[in-house]
Amino acid sequence: FWEYDDAPQSTDSVDIEEQYNLFIDGEFVSPTKGRYFESINPATEQSLTSFAEATKQDVDNAVEAARKAFEGSWSTISAKERGKYIFRLARLIKERAREFAILESMDGGKPIRESRDVDVPLAAAHFFYYAGWADKLEYAFPARKAEPLGVAGQIIPWNFPLLMLAWKIAPALATGNTVVLKPAESTSLTALKFAELCRDAGLPDGVVNIVTGAGQTGSQIVNHDDIDKIAFTGSTKVGKIIKKSLAGTDTKYTLELGGKGPNIIFEDAPIDQAVEGIINAIFFNQGHVCCAGSRLFVQEGIADEVIQKLRDRMETLIVGDPLDKNTDIGAINSEQQYNKINEYLEVGVNEGADMYQNSCELPEKGYYCRPTLFTNVSQSNKIVQEEIFGPVLTIQTFRTVEEGIEKANNTPYGLAGGVWTDKGSKIFNVSSNIRNGIVWANTYNKFDPTSPFGGYKESGEGREGGLHGLYPYVKLK
Ligand code: NAD
Repeated sequence: FWEYDDAPQSTDSVDIEEQYNLFIDGEFVSPTKGRYFESINPATEQSLTSFAEATKQDVDNAVEAARKAFEGSWSTISAKERGKYIFRLARLIKERAREFAILESMDGGKPIRESRDVDVPLAAAHFFYYAGWADKLEYAFPARKAEPLGVAGQIIPWNFPLLMLAWKIAPALATGNTVVLKPAESTSLTALKFAELCRDAGLPDGVVNIVTGAGQTGSQIVNHDDIDKIAFTGSTKVGKIIKKSLAGTDTKYTLELGGKGPNIIFEDAPIDQAVEGIINAIFFNQGHVCCAGSRLFVQEGIADEVIQKLRDRMETLIVGDPLDKNTDIGAINSEQQYNKINEYLEVGVNEGADMYQNSCELPEKGYYCRPTLFTNVSQSNKIVQEEIFGPVLTIQTFRTVEEGIEKANNTPYGLAGGVWTDKGSKIFNVSSNIRNGIVWANTYNKFDPTSPFGGYKESGEGREGGLHGLYPYVKLK
């Protein structure tokens, strides 16, 4: 996808300012109370920059700007023109891919190979994809007129900052809405860089507004009475709060929440391929992935072989500097998340599970966790039921297909999972009976802008991505 001459390892080409302002109505503006908060580079524990703390007044200003744009400039341009702006944004991300990849890795701790090869290209791909829909909505909604909802309030987490922004902003703009987006407090850098692209693309003022701040700012967006739609990606806990706040209002919402993905491997699976897939499923992005395959179910006859192969492969994983292109597992996103993962490791051991970790050296500074697996666990264990959001895999065995499915379904979550087998019939059986929004077969973590994504049960409501990702942003007439 990219024409890289080399991995973007050098930080020389990036320019990080000492502090960043809010992006409202096409301008970078200081927060009304003048407060900023620090953002830490998790690989070094050093301060990286600081972001503006938006106040209620700032949120009001952003919503007002978005409303003005929705009723003014943005509503007067043709769908084709709208598409051109989105194509322009896609091309600008591609042109500045190197810079975005480095910033994403410095701000969030993810390995540069991942931000370079996954986050940034996929973010651009979402803008390219939805740009194409802007002037074709009549084909998406035959015999109906698809009208935009108005102002969308969008709140995103820290695990895929630019990519989550793309999931949110691209379909909203393609359908003619305007946006107030709040990035997560620990990873707001690429959203503000994206704001620069909005200016470079000549996007009319107020169509995209970025407000930074903590959960309180998110809550002010959710509870704002001039917002027509909330798109939230984050934890199930906050998702439930949002759902409660919006009950009885006419604000539309979509929720993309947590997960505890099951990965089921049968005796007839291509084992080496499956081991690679299982490693990728749980250790990609330090396990900070809503759809991570964090629970492995191995059919009994191959359990010893699979566990041994997983351990051998884990030994080769390199944990370290996110900007080193050889790194497989970067830094844990924040001190808070680092502590949370370590608490879960303790819980697992106290619950009587057997813990295995790779033995590589960890850097002296920074928040790093070894890839970890737990065997000898049972369904009721906390580490099997709760989302850890780190590089931690639990392994259980099963005998029959039915038992595998039953165990896989036994959590409150239902986002994503995988099945590894040589038999097409088993793939159909398992994927039909797993109560998840996404099931991968003989692969894992494959993402594409054309595919809808979203959860069952406590993993969310609504779908983002693909044609279905347009639905939550329109009213049909
Ligand atoms: P989080 O819920 O703590 O925060 C997410 C965002 O919501 C942040 O921007 C935060 O500032 C904001 N927020 C916090 N409290 C709020 C409130 N009361 N009202 C409004 N906004 C509020 O989640 P996180 O720790 O940033 O992200 C990790 C979670 O996100 C995991 O559970 C993960 O599974 C989930 N996630 C889901 C998907 C998906 O597509 N289903 C994708 C990525 C991450």
